[in-house]
Amino acid sequence: MSKPILEVNDLKKHFPIRAGFFGGITGHVYAVDGVSFSIEKGETLSLVGESGCGKSTVGKAILRLFDITGGQVVLDGQRIDDMPAGTLRPMRRRMQVVFQDPYSSLNPRMRVRDILAEPIRNFGLAKDAADIERRVGDLMDRVRLPRDAVNRWPHEFSGGQRQRICIARALAAEPDLIICDEAVSALDVSVKAQIVNLLQDLQKELGLAMLFISHDLAIVEHMTHRVAVMYLGRIVEVAPKRQLFAAPKHPYTEALLSAVPVPEPGAARDRIILKGDVPSPIRPPKGCRFHTRCPYAFDRCKQEEPVLRQTEQGHWSACHLHDRPAAENPLAGERGAAVLAHH
Ligand code: SF4
Repeated sequence: MSKPILEVNDLKKHFPIRAGFFGGITGHVYAVDGVSFSIEKGETLSLVGESGCGKSTVGKAILRLFDITGGQVVLDGQRIDDMPAGTLRPMRRRMQVVFQDPYSSLNPRMRVRDILAEPIRNFGLAKDAADIERRVGDLMDRVRLPRDAVNRWPHEFSGGQRQRICIARALAAEPDLIICDEAVSALDVSVKAQIVNLLQDLQKELGLAMLFISHDLAIVEHMTHRVAVMYLGRIVEVAPKRQLFAAPKHPYTEALLSAVPVPEPGAARDRIILKGDVPSPIRPPKGCRFHTRCPYAFDRCKQEEPVLRQTEQGHWSACHLHDRPAAENPLAGERGAAVLAHH
């Protein structure tokens, strides 16, 4: 195993709720509540879950878009969550982000050439103006856009082309890690596939590490090496993609996967409809946070919060079912493997 480029240890982000004239704190939104994972060089880890589970907050916390409540973020061996702004600057270059909305994330008053030149100049990556121009041209090649399009304005491009420009801008800083926060969610289906393919190619060509934040398991399946599933501010399962798709070890993952369309008619497992809504992150349920919706919940689940533990090599799950004998554990074994054999 190579050294992780990113380590997130027990990350917490609790947003205070203020009320009244004096703005006193009346509670907290436990958006992220003890999340740990790591990403190796050249690896894609996907962070998935329903909207509001805290996955985007994890991405923003890593990028230091706000201070965290607890835990650590370590980039290439250096802790960055408490780094002063001056020291953080060169570290920021090494982590770039591509957001969901390519319309609002490009300055409409800048031509593409200037959008791409800005990070090159800001981080002092070029020797001179000719070097900047050469780098901008290379970036256009990398994201498969014509070089002469550098003279155009953002509004002259389609949504997919704009997202290519956002990716080129992220690459301009020569990062080690790219965080894609729902980066293809706003795009049409065919364009989505093109951008996913592009990201995959770039990752292979450049050896980038990627944190791919998405609610869409069908997209994640094409992109990723490993998957971490979040529910109400915590990771409930982490596994290599094949293992997770073939045989999930957490009831929540099983339910999410049951809704993913599969190509072969009749190959899909029965859809599991979860009861109730996602509980409020202001008052997460005691015990297992998923017990109010879990089809397998039993008494212990209401009392005791399960911790993530390894159920097989590289496959981690936070569920009390794995303390039960296999005959009483509906998620034991490989029963899902045949059903999702196309994976
Ligand atoms: Fe369901 Fe209990 Fe497992 Fe939580 S610990 S996922 S409630 S079986």
